[in-house]
Amino acid sequence: MKRRQFFKIFLTAILFVAFVSFVNAQNKVLPNVVVLATGGTIAGTGESATGSSYTAGQVRIGEMIDAVPNIRKLANLTGEQTANVGSQDMSVEVWLILAKRINELLAKDDVDGVVITHGTDTQEETAFFLNLTVKSDKPVVMVSAMRSSTALSADGPLNLYNGVAVAASPLSKGMGVMVAINDAIHSAHAVKKMLTTPVHAFMSPEHGQLGTVNFGQVEFFHKPHGIHTINSEFSVDGVTELPRVDIVYGCADMSTDLIDIMVKAGAKGIIIAGVGDGNMNAGTLEAAKRITATGIHVVRASRIPVGTVLIEGEVVDEDYGTVSSDELNPQKARVLLMLALQKDKNISREKLQELMINY
Ligand code: ASP
Repeated sequence: MKRRQFFKIFLTAILFVAFVSFVNAQNKVLPNVVVLATGGTIAGTGESATGSSYTAGQVRIGEMIDAVPNIRKLANLTGEQTANVGSQDMSVEVWLILAKRINELLAKDDVDGVVITHGTDTQEETAFFLNLTVKSDKPVVMVSAMRSSTALSADGPLNLYNGVAVAASPLSKGMGVMVAINDAIHSAHAVKKMLTTPVHAFMSPEHGQLGTVNFGQVEFFHKPHGIHTINSEFSVDGVTELPRVDIVYGCADMSTDLIDIMVKAGAKGIIIAGVGDGNMNAGTLEAAKRITATGIHVVRASRIPVGTVLIEGEVVDEDYGTVSSDELNPQKARVLLMLALQKDKNISREKLQELMINY
């Protein structure tokens, strides 16, 4: 081999090694984020870009990530398909799978954050469940969309981009489980789906949103309210199911036998989505008193979307053996009661009241 030729090959090899080291160095500085997909409208498809009809949970995670420009510049991404359902079909079974997998992933030194794609309908329940069962202060961010992936002005791609940015941000450490949607960051405790279909459906009416995320720029305004993640007393280790807890929806002239029917069907706890300040008619109140006397907990929440249920309002909980949900809406109070009963099926009314206030 001529000297010149040898020199050329030598130089090419050096350049190649330098290039590979450069690419590796770039990848090393990027955080590692795992995206767990569960379906929802973000993975939905419809026949027409301008029609309102679509089917949730159709697109798989790899395709979803690939559809978002520059998302791989935010983090080294790995996708896993945990489920692919509309979140109206979300279940305790999937919650347990998610919480266990997230705990496993975040225990690894080379995983910096987790994003979960989800439907919007029950997103706040999943977020709250994970907020109480994830044992890490690394970021966990739920991402969803109000418009399907094939709709005109689909919101999913930017929500996913922003969700990954939040999960990759060092500012997100210790913020508990978050929901990133429509440029806002919400805490699992405070977030509520307030509107049925528009892109600004999610709000945190009592506490305000945690922060904002604009084209990947993350800013936090305050810390989340309530005990969460590493400080939570709940765990999913070895848990394979949760006790049944049902919700009764209050209304004028409501049937007074609903609580009894639910208990007969196997409910171990009842949430009343009461009228106003967790109120219910006289017959339901009597039924609640009868049920709590047998040791089954009845929690008074409200069908009103915003506000706190007073422990001593028109109903004084002590008189009926009931518990107030404080500011948890019925669906989040249900999550907490299920976890509380799973941990201690004989939990006292006082302890349960404390949990409702503190989480
Ligand atoms: N039904 C859908 C779901 O919850 C709605 C959505 O994702 O926006 O999966």
